[in-house]
Amino acid sequence: MPQISHRTESFTDSVIRRMTRVSLQYGAINLSQGFPDFEPPAPILERLREVAHEDFHQYSITWGAQNFREALAQKQSRLMGRTIDPNAEIVVTCGSTEAMMAAMMTAVNPGDKVIVFSPFYENYGADAILSGAEPIYVPLYPPEFHFKTEELEAAFRQGVKALILCNPSNPSGKVFTREELQIIADLVQRYDIFVITDEVYEHIVYAPYQHVYFASLPGMWQRTITCSSLSKTYSITGWRLGYMIAPPTIIDAAKKVHDFLTVGAAAPLQEAAVTGLKFGDAYYRTLAETYERKRNLFLKGLDDLHIPHTTPQGAYYILLDISEFGFESDLEFCEVLARDVGVGAVPGSSFFREDVNHLIRVHFAKKDETLYEALNRLSDLRRKIFPKTGKRKY
Ligand code: GLN
Repeated sequence: MPQISHRTESFTDSVIRRMTRVSLQYGAINLSQGFPDFEPPAPILERLREVAHEDFHQYSITWGAQNFREALAQKQSRLMGRTIDPNAEIVVTCGSTEAMMAAMMTAVNPGDKVIVFSPFYENYGADAILSGAEPIYVPLYPPEFHFKTEELEAAFRQGVKALILCNPSNPSGKVFTREELQIIADLVQRYDIFVITDEVYEHIVYAPYQHVYFASLPGMWQRTITCSSLSKTYSITGWRLGYMIAPPTIIDAAKKVHDFLTVGAAAPLQEAAVTGLKFGDAYYRTLAETYERKRNLFLKGLDDLHIPHTTPQGAYYILLDISEFGFESDLEFCEVLARDVGVGAVPGSSFFREDVNHLIRVHFAKKDETLYEALNRLSDLRRKIFPKTGKRKY
């Protein structure tokens, strides 16, 4: 038998998505993979019904249906404070997962180094390996998950080609301040590198924090590939609609990568999603308020149960501290949690470069009743999971 490629040997399948399967296996409430259990906005669903009977069943233009790109350009021009050209500055992708991968392949050569903050969304590790890049990790320090400028600059000095910025950040819930982004931008300018952003939680930010688009900082448009998606904003993670926004020279190259990777995102779904892209500002305010209420509800429940946790400034993830249980393996803890308590979570070690075994990630993109039931199950945590005598790592 021939050997499978070395490329696939150096990473595992996604632990986030594996924990969804574990949750299903045990009938656990799935607070692992971040997606809602409530319906997308009704007007989008109504439009989807109509679209089924209209002429949208063949390929759209490879870099995205005209209608979709125009609606997206209008929305993002408003938010990002510059006029975005729907023809030259956008590629529509199969989720931001493809956008990030295509951005990496566009910006980075095999052997190049790429800065990744740790903790990080697990896809970035695999993206780096698949594009032949070497990740250089820079720690974010809890509880605020700030970086140390001298550590960041030391990473820049290693001769990097790009920096990956997840803001608002998964799994830490950090929202980078304008001042922090400016420090990054100054280094980016000085060391002349690209920035690839993952801004899928751009609309899920809690007061007083505010989202600042990295590409909107002075001088950053020219060297930033903004990646985002409709998944979280319109509760349609299964539709796989994402995009890259960047200047024409970058987009020209990205169009080629995307064309040969996937040809294009689903045409009927692009058409139906245009309805969402045309929503007014009130929709996004309500979305943020809804998630803020869910965050507060869930955090209060955790406090009542005396479970130590992070407090997200944005996105919908919380890291729980499970040190008291003394497990050597956070993966084993998550399996026991799903099986015996009935709550699915992701082991923190999937997100950290550092050797961490005392954190697990849960999310609160769920109906209130689901969150209450999860809290109800977690109230049995200490009766169902007995402490071991392992050691906390970090
Ligand atoms: N971003 C989501 C998470 O971290 C999952 C996204 C995905 O699985 N594609 O859980």
